[in-house]
Amino acid sequence: MLQGIDVADCNLVINYNFLRNESLTVQIKGRVRKRGGEMVHISSDRVARRDRLNVHRTQLMNECTDNLVDFIQNNQNVYREELKNLNTIDMREVQSKVLRKLEESRVKQTNDEFLLYCKKCKVLVCSSFDFVVVDNQQYINITPGFKAKYKMIEHPRKDKQDGMSQDWKKISKVICKNCNLDWGIEALYKGAVALPLIKIKGFRITKKATTRHYIVKQWKNVPFKPQEISLDTILKRLCDED
Ligand SMILES: [Zn+2]
Repeated sequence: MLQGIDVADCNLVINYNFLRNESLTVQIKGRVRKRGGEMVHISSDRVARRDRLNVHRTQLMNECTDNLVDFIQNNQNVYREELKNLNTIDMREVQSKVLRKLEESRVKQTNDEFLLYCKKCKVLVCSSFDFVVVDNQQYINITPGFKAKYKMIEHPRKDKQDGMSQDWKKISKVICKNCNLDWGIEALYKGAVALPLIKIKGFRITKKATTRHYIVKQWKNVPFKPQEISLDTILKRLCDED
């Protein structure tokens, strides 16, 4: 008979299982409901030794509980004060502390030069200095050197917008010329120019000066900050190259 079963006339509990801990010992003993009832253990010598230890732990637990009740009764003001302090810990403060720590641990964006390598075949692809930002958040690289490193294949979901703004229209997929790793897409911007929209997770970033590596999944976490440019400037640059 374990916890939850009550028989008022029960005056004998025979236990033939090993009692894992002192709580279970108390629970099973509690099944003896009738005054003067008893609990009997049936076990091997080895298990009996563990049981004796549990009996000792039970006595300790009871002593601790008695002491705690005594303390609370004799120091009600101290106890109430402690309880009040525990209840008034401001979770918003804890939360903002954690967020601050996270923010501090983020990689700082610098003007240093970084090199981007294909994550799969490790071929050197371009420099962080080749990138510019357009449309507020899109990192693009319109240098001929970069274009020479990729090839384009048909996009399987060409007609789906996939969360992109209406200014962009998918043209094709962009993959590594060397190993075919998916690098992103080429898309038509404002009906004017085709630009490669690159997924940074296809690359390994290395700081040129120190060769420290960075693996980032989102552009907002890259350690460099490219310049923002307008559509006009892009068109002018592309014309100059031709
Ligand atoms: Zn590659």
